[in-house]
Amino acid sequence: MAKKGDMLYAWTNDADIKKKAELGGAVTAIWKHALDTKAVDAVLVISRGKDLYDAKPTLVRTSAELANTAGSLHCGTLLLPKLVKKYLEGSENMKLGVTVKGCDAMAFYELAKRKQINLDNVVMIGVNCGGSVSPVLARKMIADKYGVDPDVVHKEEIDKGQFIIEYEGGHKGISVDELEEHGYGRRSNCRRCKMKVPRQADLACGNWGVIGEKAGKATFVEVCSEKGANLVNGAVKSGVLATEPANPKGLDIRGKVEGAMLKLGEKWRKKDFEALGEGKDRLKKIMSETSRCIKCYSCISACPICYCVDCTTKNPSYITPGEIPPNFMFHLIRFAHIAPSCVNCGQCQELCPAEIPNALFMHAQQVELEKMFGHTPGISMELPILAYAEERVERERLHNTGSDMIYLNVFNPMKQH
Ligand code: FAD
Ligand code: SF4
Ligand code: SF4
Ligand code: SF4
Ligand code: SF4
Repeated sequence: MAKKGDMLYAWTNDADIKKKAELGGAVTAIWKHALDTKAVDAVLVISRGKDLYDAKPTLVRTSAELANTAGSLHCGTLLLPKLVKKYLEGSENMKLGVTVKGCDAMAFYELAKRKQINLDNVVMIGVNCGGSVSPVLARKMIADKYGVDPDVVHKEEIDKGQFIIEYEGGHKGISVDELEEHGYGRRSNCRRCKMKVPRQADLACGNWGVIGEKAGKATFVEVCSEKGANLVNGAVKSGVLATEPANPKGLDIRGKVEGAMLKLGEKWRKKDFEALGEGKDRLKKIMSETSRCIKCYSCISACPICYCVDCTTKNPSYITPGEIPPNFMFHLIRFAHIAPSCVNCGQCQELCPAEIPNALFMHAQQVELEKMFGHTPGISMELPILAYAEERVERERLHNTGSDMIYLNVFNPMKQH
């Protein structure tokens, strides 16, 4: 029987899932078991749309539809938790299973802290994540660096540090390091990311550490919670999944790869943050870049930390309606509200039509705040010190008293109005 803390090799016995799965198909097999036994009402996963650059969020209610959702899409840069908040009532009224990358898992915790998602109703199967590639840049990279028409590519994978494509008549791999030297490869937030094995999910699944005859045929599963252990045990009992203890040598290799990825993330942080300069120079750079802003609100609408009923950036006292570019206060408001909790998911940058490196600016500030206050967002339900306010109550108090000193309540509850 699997229990929390176990490290397993796992593979499915379901022929349809096996055919489509990235590795052992453990993720999809466990979802099949969860749906069949009604442990969840639905699962939210990523599936392939028009082509391999088109990852789409897919809500699956019956296990017969699951096999088509197996496999990894490395150009799948979507973030799922905000969709759960927006379109599935924060999972308040349904038991939901979700496949999550590290940034998804972190965003789930941040939304749950803000009471926008009910984590009691969510089961998370995490996938290790070395990084994802912007679908727009992937097309350009395949044309320029591989000399291949991106429309004829039918498969991509990241293996042993190479981004490999398969297309009619051949396959080609180029090392991710080389691609990144030339401005291609993983998204810049992914390069700085240090959430490689999402242990805040119920299970963390990947290929690192699967060696010997099981290499490429089994999924490495780290059991991170009792909920996760129950799912694995149930799936094994129902016959859809088989497991064995992970090879100790494989476990060692997995630890080393994770350590190397964390070092690489640190290296990229240093490089990116140093290039931003310090103090006034950094401020000037941010002011200059954000002066291209067209106030489309995409960064706010995509950010998992932004959930407010009335967004302060729409308050005419701070931001003049109709003025483009908006006053720098627009960005200062976001920095002040989000920086302590930014999970570096990259959405605000990827979706910015003015190509402003918003995630870089916010992440740089998050890392500084983490150094000062010791709070790491997205790993637990611990609150950052300034997030302790109920928005509706605060707005009512503001309306009644005219005072915007909401933090008095946090630092000195005796002085509440
Ligand atoms: P399957 O049964 O094939 O199921 C895969 C699940 O992943 C499905 O639920 C599918 O919907 C979901 N999925 C597919 N694409 C995405 C996406 N873009 N975002 C969120 N969910 C998605 N493992 C490592 O050990 N090292 C790595 O460096 C690594 N990098 C990865 C990078 C990305 C972008 C992704 C998506 C996965 C990565 N993985 C990595 C995990 C690995 O590729 C497998 O997903 C994992 O081992 C599970 O295999 P499986 O056969 O059990 O999954
Ligand atoms: Fe993966 Fe981290 Fe990039 Fe998210 S931010 S896609 S977890 S590397
Ligand atoms: Fe401005 Fe870009 Fe945000 Fe749109 S997404 S509001 S252009 S910073
Ligand atoms: Fe993600 Fe940007 Fe929000 Fe940070 S500020 S959590 S990178 S969308
Ligand atoms: Fe809320 Fe601030 Fe985000 Fe607006 S910018 S939605 S006020 S957190």
